[in-house]
Amino acid sequence: MARIIDGKAISAEVRAEIKKDVAALAEKGIKVRLAVVIVGDDPASQIYVRNKKKACDETGIDSEIIAMPAETTEEELISVLDGLNSRREINGILVQLPLPKHINEKNIIAHIDPKKDVDAFCDENVGRIMTGKFSFLPCTPAGIIELLHRSGISAEGKECVVIGRSNIVGKPMAILLLHENGTVTICHSKTKNLSEVTRRADILVSAVGKAGFVTADMVKPGAAVIDVGINRVDGKVVGDVDFDAVSAVAGFITPVPGGVGPMTVSMLMENTLEAAWKASR
Ligand code: NAD
Repeated sequence: MARIIDGKAISAEVRAEIKKDVAALAEKGIKVRLAVVIVGDDPASQIYVRNKKKACDETGIDSEIIAMPAETTEEELISVLDGLNSRREINGILVQLPLPKHINEKNIIAHIDPKKDVDAFCDENVGRIMTGKFSFLPCTPAGIIELLHRSGISAEGKECVVIGRSNIVGKPMAILLLHENGTVTICHSKTKNLSEVTRRADILVSAVGKAGFVTADMVKPGAAVIDVGINRVDGKVVGDVDFDAVSAVAGFITPVPGGVGPMTVSMLMENTLEAAWKASR
């Protein structure tokens, strides 16, 4: 039976460490503050924003939630971002995605000052991941690396397979595993013989967004299986991995909920702390 990687417990450890660092900065007169902008009333987005506010409260980071109506124009949103970019006391800016369809997400992300882009979504921060000279890492892949480290799982010399090639999860995940000296393969919707590739993986990361996508026959016995997917089935949140069947084969597995999700939010806190520290120097 696979050992469960408890993202909630590891996340609590990480947040306790961040809280200490935030307090240490406060003693030097440096405040840490995150601005979260949400446009419209998508229920899932509202939950994510609430979780981020809660994590700020837990770590002692000040938060400012800016809620804008669904009919907000791109220009109005850009003007809010301009204001946040110019305010010195704001260290991190996050725009909750997805945005309403009439707003171009790329334009919005490009408008966030890269030094405050704590999601690491802008081109400059994404590009820096390649060279390893990054200021911030995107929160989900960074959180997965932290989960692996804190579970004693090394990627060095291992076969690592990432399913999914999005700019925010799949691609940066693959690069980070490469930085960890893994032998990395990226799979996607056009990959042929997917299960042949995934069965080679010592570390298998699934970021597809389809419930039950990763089945037991796709997993090498003893592998570490990291489930990034968030899918809603009959009102329940599940991952991409057929948890019960895969648990019987894998060596390690992350549950959904309670695996990657909490770590993603913790890494956002880490990035905000880092931004405040850099801004103070
Ligand atoms: P995306 O839709 O941008 O990417 C999905 C990827 O899956 C694509 O690259 C596509 O090529 C691949 N794919 C689709 N069908 C496939 C198939 N049949 N075979 C192989 N590959 C296939 O999604 P994303 O933004 O990368 O997110 C992926 C999932 O992770 C979603 O469920 C999302 O909600 C979740 N997510 C979770 C967190 C978290 O904190 N836990 C953070 C971000 C995203």
